[in-house]
Amino acid sequence: MDDLKYGTRDKRGNWTPLKPAEPAPIWHWPFSLSKVLSWIPEYLWPWNAFHLATALLWVLVLIPSWESLATLSLANYAYLYALNAVGMFVFLGSFEFVYYIKRKQENRFKYNGKFPADHPSDVFWFKSQNLDNFLRSFLITIPLWTVVEIVLLWAYANSWAVWLPWTTHWLWLSFVVLMAPAVHEVYFFFLHRAIHWPPLYKHIHSVHHNSINPSPWSSLSMHPGEGFPYMAEAWLHLLIPSNPICAYFTLHSVGFGAVNGHLGFEKFELTENRTLDSHAYVHYLHHKYFEVNYGGDGLVPLDKLFGTWHDGSKESDERMKERFRKKKDRLKAKQAATPAE
Ligand SMILES: [Zn+2]
Ligand SMILES: [Zn+2]
Repeated sequence: MDDLKYGTRDKRGNWTPLKPAEPAPIWHWPFSLSKVLSWIPEYLWPWNAFHLATALLWVLVLIPSWESLATLSLANYAYLYALNAVGMFVFLGSFEFVYYIKRKQENRFKYNGKFPADHPSDVFWFKSQNLDNFLRSFLITIPLWTVVEIVLLWAYANSWAVWLPWTTHWLWLSFVVLMAPAVHEVYFFFLHRAIHWPPLYKHIHSVHHNSINPSPWSSLSMHPGEGFPYMAEAWLHLLIPSNPICAYFTLHSVGFGAVNGHLGFEKFELTENRTLDSHAYVHYLHHKYFEVNYGGDGLVPLDKLFGTWHDGSKESDERMKERFRKKKDRLKAKQAATPAE
């Protein structure tokens, strides 16, 4: 497929989409019903449908019995960790294998023309972004994801949270599932904004940002101080009348769904005419420029509201540079006002 019909490639091989990123059509003004209607399938399929499918698979088939989950046990933890690790290995690993190892699509639709494996760097464990990101995911973030999961199950198993049945409350529970991605954007925006506060950034979030050119293994490469609160979003379900399937939908959207921002490609070629959108561009720009796009890809456009939205266009670039200039001036003025010791 000719990716230059959809974007441009610079001398360094970096590809930029022609169409700037946009918040979800529900926020567009003037409001267009037809745009919203054509966006709904894209909202549901395939990513959110996939998270719902894995949530159902886990709750209905894979997790241990509710009786055994009522007590916290190391055996259950080990089993749940193994499930998560295998699930994540297969899911992230498939993208990694096909697009980064086999390079089936070479660099077509790839934002950054380079592949991390070709560029060893001292910032990573063993100088390898892939190995560093992989080990941090499987030794730190996935174990923490499993802690959030087992505590969630323990709370439900002991009836410490309101567990509504689908038969009588299907309308409310469907609403909870439909709203969960929007809640995630708000939760993630504020958590992410907080860890960009310089002291937290330096000690915690910089680990995730070592990957300026993210790839699938970068998705969960986090310091525990980030990985734990990031995953703990699923505990919000314990505070409202909900259901383990809804809670798993959030748990899997944040876990498996982290890959969306780190795929590195705009589209995956399925056939000569069909592609799968990655929804990776907005978060890719965050990895490239750091102080833009703290939220997701505009389902709830908080970045627009706070002036940190970057859609990839030259105008956005100018706005960002202007913001950085002002910030620098403010810092200089502050330093000048502080008397020397
Ligand atoms: Zn990221
Ligand atoms: Zn960040």
